[in-house]
Amino acid sequence: MQNNDTVSTDILIIGGGPSGLATSIHLADLLKLKGLKHRILLIEKGSSIGSHILSGAVIKADVFKSLLPDVDFNEIPFNARVTTDSTVFLSENGSFKLPVHVPYMSNSGNYTASLGQICRYLAKKAEEKGVEIYTGFSVNEILYKDGKVIGAKTIDTGVDHHGHQLENFQPGTRIEAKLTIFAEGTRGSLAKILIQKYELDKGKNCQIYSLGCKELWSVPEGNIKPGEVYHTMGYPLNLKEFGGGFVYGLNDNRVAVGLVVGLDYEDPAFDTHDAFQAWKTNPFISKFLKGGKLVEYGAKTLPEGGYYSIPKLYTDNALIVGDSAGLITMPALKGVHLAITSGMLAAKTAAEALSKNNFSESLLSQYESLVKESVIYKDMYPVRNFRQGFSKGLVVGSVHFGTQLITGGAGFFGKLKSHPDREATKTLSEFKGKPFKERFKGKLDFDKVQTFDKVTDVFYSGVHHDEQQVVHVKINNPDSFSAINIKQYGATEQYFCSSEVYELHTDKNGHQELRIHAENCMHCKTCDIKSPGDGITWSVPNGGNGPEFQNM
Ligand SMILES: Cc1cc2nc3c(=O)[nH]c(=O)nc-3n(C[C@H](O)[C@H](O)[C@H](O)COP(=O)(O)OP(=O)(O)OC[C@H]3O[C@@H](n4cnc5c(N)ncnc54)[C@H](O)[C@@H]3O)c2cc1C
Repeated sequence: MQNNDTVSTDILIIGGGPSGLATSIHLADLLKLKGLKHRILLIEKGSSIGSHILSGAVIKADVFKSLLPDVDFNEIPFNARVTTDSTVFLSENGSFKLPVHVPYMSNSGNYTASLGQICRYLAKKAEEKGVEIYTGFSVNEILYKDGKVIGAKTIDTGVDHHGHQLENFQPGTRIEAKLTIFAEGTRGSLAKILIQKYELDKGKNCQIYSLGCKELWSVPEGNIKPGEVYHTMGYPLNLKEFGGGFVYGLNDNRVAVGLVVGLDYEDPAFDTHDAFQAWKTNPFISKFLKGGKLVEYGAKTLPEGGYYSIPKLYTDNALIVGDSAGLITMPALKGVHLAITSGMLAAKTAAEALSKNNFSESLLSQYESLVKESVIYKDMYPVRNFRQGFSKGLVVGSVHFGTQLITGGAGFFGKLKSHPDREATKTLSEFKGKPFKERFKGKLDFDKVQTFDKVTDVFYSGVHHDEQQVVHVKINNPDSFSAINIKQYGATEQYFCSSEVYELHTDKNGHQELRIHAENCMHCKTCDIKSPGDGITWSVPNGGNGPEFQNM
């Protein structure tokens, strides 16, 4: 794909994760069956497929048999079938294996995997079927005509911090498409604009998120076997905070460890990365890592509002799939099979639209009907109130969950509302809990053997950004930012950021400002979600910028 062009395509897919790749593969197959020839173009901002992919992951794998019916299942690069699967309750130094599974958390029959590796495999399959995949291009603008989506445009490059054109200026490519499919993953920066513009979230619960910090380790033989799976509850979180940890045994003596924390916490100084480091000091976790080496670090948010937060999934000429549509089933922490299912259903709808040359809302509404008949509904509807129930903490949440289990998900109060995560953060004067640093005293010394400070961890993500570009995280209201975000909330951005993008700088006169080190950005998008007062907007940087995940 050349810059400075207008490119025309039948289908444009924005994002090369499982949802976008599944859309492209299934659509190519369906068009072949119908004897139709159409151009399918998939654009990915990572330098290669997989470089921006981060997941756990333990995957419900059956959906791959439907997506790739002609492929020998053993050819798909999963790691290992789950052999051991337990939930463990942690205190600071102790652990207690729960005798039974928390409902919906069983992983029997599932597979451990690196989702990045799986995506690279899917991309190869897609290209074999004629899908055109372009990596290293960030799509940063939706194109409209007569109020309807007509495609999207990649970012202009060769501009300085102020947006002034430099000698190497290259205008982005306009990609005009009959149908544009938004597969950008969590908090899709264009999907967000699309949802707002067409009010696709009207009457729905707002989306809420958690942040997951993850490390991949290489460990001595015997520390953990491939297919061993542990989920943890309790430490380092308190009764008001939602989340938990995971330990997944992989091939070649590697282990994936991570902590996922609901972004509806109150403490303005809460730091998910640092809490993750504290979690690793618990003896139940540290025994898996002993004698090992950190290989990679990364972080990503995940949408967990559930069924009631799913937006309308279509508008004229456009569909939304995967995490951009909020298709994750909590409490199972599973989104990959739903991303792939939504991609396949979007493909089915797209094939129909192409054969009738009709991309109107009324035809595309088929997609939402198909979703309601699928495993997406089957998995998400029974737990439709799950996450909202925990907004008041573990005790109230567990009671809610109990009532939901005996009422098929309804609970005793019907549809529970969700609230934007940023509204849960308390100001410095409102927050009465124990200060974060005191809570984890002695646990945040970061020995650089088993625990790491943020900057060191960021190094292990391979992150890089071109110096010459408009800063891709923008303070929305510079005039009020200092008074609200710095004075009232103590620059909570410096703590919630997974990758040391935000630094509170105090000059010799005591004047404070938030400095932005956008070059560290992991693309987790927490700032877009958690910054108080709608403080920050995250948008895509230059294509190929960001982390360089190998096996996350
Ligand atoms: C810590 C963590 C643990 C998880 N564990 C599990 C698990 O164990 N099992 C499970 O099933 N699920 C798990 N999930 C959820 C699962 O990873 C997601 O549901 C799934 O990856 C969603 O797929 P997707 O294609 O919608 O989005 P993604 O996988 O996020 O892919 C989106 C792609 O779009 C690209 N993109 C975004 N915007 C643009 C743009 N504007 N221009 C160009 N490219 C763009 C991104 O770079 C990315 O490559 C986990 C998630 C996290 C964060």
